Amino acid sequence: MRILIIEDDRMIGEGLRRGLLDEGYAVNWLQDGAAALTALSDGQADYAAVLLDWGLGECSGLAVLKAARDSGNAVPVLIVTARDSIRDRIAGLDAGADDYLVKPFDFGELKARLRCVIRRAAGRAETGLVHGALALDPIGHRVSLNGADIALTAREFALLQAFLERPSVVLSRAQLEERLYSWDDSVESNVVEVLIHGVRKKLGASTIENVRGVGWRIGPAICGTQASPSPRG
Ligand code: CA
Repeated sequence: MRILIIEDDRMIGEGLRRGLLDEGYAVNWLQDGAAALTALSDGQADYAAVLLDWGLGECSGLAVLKAARDSGNAVPVLIVTARDSIRDRIAGLDAGADDYLVKPFDFGELKARLRCVIRRAAGRAETGLVHGALALDPIGHRVSLNGADIALTAREFALLQAFLERPSVVLSRAQLEERLYSWDDSVESNVVEVLIHGVRKKLGASTIENVRGVGWRIGPAICGTQASPSPRG
């Protein structure tokens, strides 16, 4: 899941970037308003949410937000700013922000608000993803099969989450790389296959199915104790 940080303060931006990477998000970080405007108006990148600073030097985060909304971009936006007046909060929300958090903030609260705007944008009230005997808890970072916890790496977890959020959708290699890796990551050509192999090994070969020439999707929901990891992966 890819998050865009728009923040001109290096320390805050770097702190956010590291914290979100640790959570298993892919992160892109832009430091100026003009670049942010381009990123949010071209409609190409598939961001799960945007963390937007208000004061971006020459440019106002609010102007970036308004332009993004005018161009039809409905990405969830969480304004993160030191401007704490009621008037500013109202202006931010009325400009199209989904939530508003005042600096200095608690990182735990920021993560919770981020999950919340992402969940709402996906039209889901519940926090967990369930597919037959398979369950994924994005908050607790836990995956279970038939009630037994299965340890996945952060990237395997993010891959599985991508499939479970849209169980009927086939995701291409490019879409998965886009979602799982940040701009500055060097992505090996077979990295998606390696992750899928890891998930199948731990959760069963039919967990993810191949759609030839297109990509992959989550396999059919398996109930009860039929689902068991394949010994050969
Ligand atoms: Ca700033």
